[in-house]
Amino acid sequence: MTMISQLPELKSLLTPACQILTDPNDAKFVDYLKRWTDIDLKAPGAIVLPTSESDCQKIVQWASKSSVPFVMKSGGHSEYSTIGSNGIILDLSLYKGVEVDISSGTATLKGSVLSKDVATALAEAGYFAALGNGNTVGAIPYFLAGGASLTPSITGFGADQILSAHLITAKGELVDVTDETHPDLLYGLRGAGQFFGLVTQLVIKCHPLHALGNDQGTIWAGSFVFPLSRAEEVTSVMKDLMNDDRHGTAGLMMIMAPPPARNPCLVIATKYTGDPKNAPEAYKALYELQPIVANGASVPIQNANDAQDALGAKGDFKRFGIIGLQRFNQGSFLKIIELWRELVAECPDAINTSFNFKWDSRPAKQPNSESAMGLHDIRYFLNNFIWHTDAKNRAKVDEYNNKAYALMRSDDNEEDFVDFPPGRVGPVNRRYRGGERIARLRSLKKEWDPTGVFTNQLLD
Ligand SMILES: Cc1cc2nc3c(=O)[nH]c(=O)nc-3n(C[C@H](O)[C@H](O)[C@H](O)COP(=O)(O)OP(=O)(O)OC[C@H]3O[C@@H](n4cnc5c(N)ncnc54)[C@H](O)[C@@H]3O)c2cc1C
Repeated sequence: MTMISQLPELKSLLTPACQILTDPNDAKFVDYLKRWTDIDLKAPGAIVLPTSESDCQKIVQWASKSSVPFVMKSGGHSEYSTIGSNGIILDLSLYKGVEVDISSGTATLKGSVLSKDVATALAEAGYFAALGNGNTVGAIPYFLAGGASLTPSITGFGADQILSAHLITAKGELVDVTDETHPDLLYGLRGAGQFFGLVTQLVIKCHPLHALGNDQGTIWAGSFVFPLSRAEEVTSVMKDLMNDDRHGTAGLMMIMAPPPARNPCLVIATKYTGDPKNAPEAYKALYELQPIVANGASVPIQNANDAQDALGAKGDFKRFGIIGLQRFNQGSFLKIIELWRELVAECPDAINTSFNFKWDSRPAKQPNSESAMGLHDIRYFLNNFIWHTDAKNRAKVDEYNNKAYALMRSDDNEEDFVDFPPGRVGPVNRRYRGGERIARLRSLKKEWDPTGVFTNQLLD
């Protein structure tokens, strides 16, 4: 029996509002297939849209019984919510929600709820959470994959906020994962959670808005723009600023050519947490360099990412190239400026690509509970944003990104290399650091998903 011939049976199991799309030429199919990136994008045999937790469970049970491979899709911002014509996409778009429990300071996230919707609901209730910088990123996959948050020194990583979950396992069972029922599995969900099952609901810890260090629930965001020719003096100042934990500074040092003028420049996109009155003092050294542009303002935390919404657009070949770093190597950074120039000269379609150094002046808050997330000691990242349009240049653009990694890692021993978990590339020990952590995760994977229904990660 073909997979397509079994779909009527699946349809009969689901509540009437669910949809099953099978025609790749149908406008709805085309729309639901769109992803943030076209890298490796494939057309599935069907896109199945459940509307409830019990629908999700029935789909997983049906797929398991019929041996149909599937992937889940929430916000569609990864390279992994895609599958070929032999499989189905379990698209959670029609099942979503967020409920804030003011008395306990927790929130229950459901299905495909997006980060911005969570941030808005929380702010209305007087809270914020350890969300990241993509409004349209699916909140559940973000937390499950580790969650490099906007506020690491105040909240810690996203994964550390996870209090409990509803998980549909490879066998199609719906499991309530709590500290009491399955503490080990809960540990795995905190950072490696996309590899153990379909998470229909996630309960996370929230923080009162005043924990941001002001009564308005705001974060200060600014940008300082310099010509690339001034990179040496700017990075000399930044080296000290990024390492000064008296101020809660954070942000990205970006080598880019922004539209419309496309003049290559160094943009320092900054954040400041605390009393916004103190932000100009924290960034005094940058103001004193007299940038071409210097601006900054307080923004309500739930709107802190709105200025970057264009980066969330769907389509084209996009990828974040992220590695953790132990230090800022100024010489290497100056060399990657030259690399970026070579990249855009050789691949003009990559003009939107920026090579970025990310910093947080303060260390991440340590978690209160055990977590599979293992990057708490990392304050620095190379956070390249790859964006190009010509398929012919796919390999070449990646090659430049890899050269940038090699330059920034030139002072490190290979055993110190750190990869960012959502990237899923490179050896697993660079993402989940420490032999004990990896052994524990592998054993959990064997117990809960031995045949790799939810990817072969941790089985290889
Ligand atoms: C513009 C942008 C900004 C970003 N900012 C940050 C940031 O600040 N910090 C950070 O840490 N990361 C960030 N990321 C990375 C992002 O958090 C991860 O790629 C995340 O997994 C994307 O989730 P999604 O739902 O949007 O993507 P999807 O492609 O829909 O899902 C991602 C993966 O999770 C699986 N999945 C989907 N739903 C579920 C579910 N309910 N249960 C289990 N698995 C599921 C999918 O099969 C897929 O493998 C950013 C990415 C982009 C594109």
